[in-house]
Amino acid sequence: MTASEFAFELCVCQWAEREWSPARDDSAVFVARQLGTKYRRWDTLILECDPDGLRRRAEFGATAFDSDLLHVLRHAPADWQFYRDALPDPGYPWRYVRESIHEAADRDALETRKRGNRIEIRRRREYPDWLRRIVAIENKPDLSASAARDLADQLERDVALGLADEVWVATAATGERIEPILLSDFPAAAGVLTVDAERGTADPVWQPRTLAVSDPGTRILDRPTDDASAARFEYADPDWKAEKRLAIAERAYERGWRAYAETMRPDCRHFRLRADETGVYPHCAAKERLPTQKECRGSCHEYEPEPPVWRTRGWPIEGGPGAAIKRLLDRRRRRSRPGLAEK
Ligand code: SF4
Repeated sequence: MTASEFAFELCVCQWAEREWSPARDDSAVFVARQLGTKYRRWDTLILECDPDGLRRRAEFGATAFDSDLLHVLRHAPADWQFYRDALPDPGYPWRYVRESIHEAADRDALETRKRGNRIEIRRRREYPDWLRRIVAIENKPDLSASAARDLADQLERDVALGLADEVWVATAATGERIEPILLSDFPAAAGVLTVDAERGTADPVWQPRTLAVSDPGTRILDRPTDDASAARFEYADPDWKAEKRLAIAERAYERGWRAYAETMRPDCRHFRLRADETGVYPHCAAKERLPTQKECRGSCHEYEPEPPVWRTRGWPIEGGPGAAIKRLLDRRRRRSRPGLAEK
């Protein structure tokens, strides 16, 4: 990812967090980036949520539950029951379910007790129905002809599978009378956003179609370009889709889009957060620009750790500026997850 692609992606996330209009006016919105399935990773995700459900989700803490844990939580009974009677057959060995049960109990999301040889479970609280919609955005600031072809293929796969409720492409606005992206051969079901990264604004120039997330989807495995070979497809059943959507939403809930601080080096003495009217961005004082995630690592030639005295308790920011940056980004993430306790 080039510096401008990373900067563009952060700009789209900032814009979405500030300006996104959900399909239902009362939906709560939060944004995440770089998430998906093993088949597909989206650049930006917008989650539209039931506000009450989102608040109840916060009672389970900030950490995501994976599919196996969700299987347990969503079916955990209100009263004590043998786990095999309470939970539907998972389709994989029960010993893995037992592991998930213990993990859920360790996270205080479930109660367990032993009756003879049997493990019984009871939920601590009901896992809420909090996710309404997932909007997926692919960011392509510079859309060359070959990038447009690859993207068209990818978007057709997204539309056929229907895992997200909407798919969009975001590209840099050119200011031309007809934006060139509209001339690309994209599926009509995909929306198009043109983004002015300088001003931090975006304009939906083509509205997407809402995809049928509750219907079976088609996973396109292979689509040969010649006329002789047949394309290969795989059927994606609605239960698989529902499970994947919730697992993606859980990871989005935990990570948000400011998780870059986890992989970059805010503990480097050159690392800053810069704010302007469009939002807050990482900035490298040594390179005098927004660094990419790839270059801002311990292996960076200009990396200089904060002097130890900066990290001394109470000087002048507790834990040093690097820790303060992480806390600030975490506070901002928590702001769009109502009900989560302050750290
Ligand atoms: S000098 Fe390197 S490690 Fe330090 S902030 Fe800049 S890019 Fe990151």
